[in-house]
Amino acid sequence: MTKPTPIPLEPLYELSDQALEARIRQAKETLGESCVILGHHYQREEVYQFADFTGDSLKLARLASQKPDARYILFCGVHFMAEVADILSSPEQIAILPDMAAGCSMADMADLPAVESAWQAIGKVIDVESMVTPVTYVNSMADLKGFCGDHGGTVCTSSNAEKVLAWAFERREKVLFFPDQHLGRNSAARMGISLDEMVLWKPTQPNGGLSDEQIKKAKVILWDGFCSVHQMFQPAHIDLFRQKMPGVQITVHPECSYEVCQKADHLGSTEQIQSAVRNAPSGSQWAIGTELNLVNRLKHEMPDKEIHFLCPTICMCSTMFRIDTQHLCWALENLVAGHVVNPISVPPAVAASAKKALDRMLSVL
Ligand code: SF4
Repeated sequence: MTKPTPIPLEPLYELSDQALEARIRQAKETLGESCVILGHHYQREEVYQFADFTGDSLKLARLASQKPDARYILFCGVHFMAEVADILSSPEQIAILPDMAAGCSMADMADLPAVESAWQAIGKVIDVESMVTPVTYVNSMADLKGFCGDHGGTVCTSSNAEKVLAWAFERREKVLFFPDQHLGRNSAARMGISLDEMVLWKPTQPNGGLSDEQIKKAKVILWDGFCSVHQMFQPAHIDLFRQKMPGVQITVHPECSYEVCQKADHLGSTEQIQSAVRNAPSGSQWAIGTELNLVNRLKHEMPDKEIHFLCPTICMCSTMFRIDTQHLCWALENLVAGHVVNPISVPPAVAASAKKALDRMLSVL
């Protein structure tokens, strides 16, 4: 028997927004409990409204492991998130990313060969296995989580980075943190580690651009990666807001630079930013340094507060934006028709190693 062909995507771009939304609702209703839609806070509103559960990477990672009845986990986020959902869900469950082009430029800044080669190079200077805990930000590929799992390391998110670093330092005296230098630096600084005890590993340079002495002295070795969205926020933006709005509270994401985080009143993950603003009194003024879709949603949700975007230019995650209603509809309608489009399947050996690292993270929360 020949397999029917999957429903094509292109005709969906000819539908009106209303028609498309009606079809998404219909497909969702037909699929019922068999499909759960997870939506990251940075998703555009048109897609976010259809999520059964919303949250940051940590919350969604946990949810993925707590929905055993859903055969399909449709992840409206980026590639590494769907990988985590695949790793933490049961073997019968299938994680789906509606658009395979929804990646994360930060996650792409560290890959397994580069991290292995850094590990070996550092290993020529100090005994890595007894002295260094590798910690990867959840914004990384599954094989890097696997690397951490196999080398006594773990994973962190922007919600729990300090707790995870404390866990790491209880075991070994140094940390190799990748791929986001800013989250690593900001979290370590908040734990009282001085900037002098942190070094930056530049993967394109011999020995990471570091001397043996620097490696021996360092407590934290930071990978030279960053988020192209959060690096747009500058200390001058904070100064400007404080000048024109003296009572304003500045809250930023720890993927912003050290200088920005030092000047802010508060820093936290998307969940933590949201709860800080939600719990604030009516009439309070906020300038927020994180992705635009989240800030616009908070503005809309809380008209009794004055909420501003910290940067004068648009800072949007263009890869998150790849998930549009057409791709969502396409993935859902194909499920209704018996096709799984864009399944995310981490090879079992990598998934087993990565799960060790993820489980260590989940155990310290
Ligand atoms: S906002 Fe930055 S870190 Fe988050 S998914 Fe987009 S590129 Fe990656």
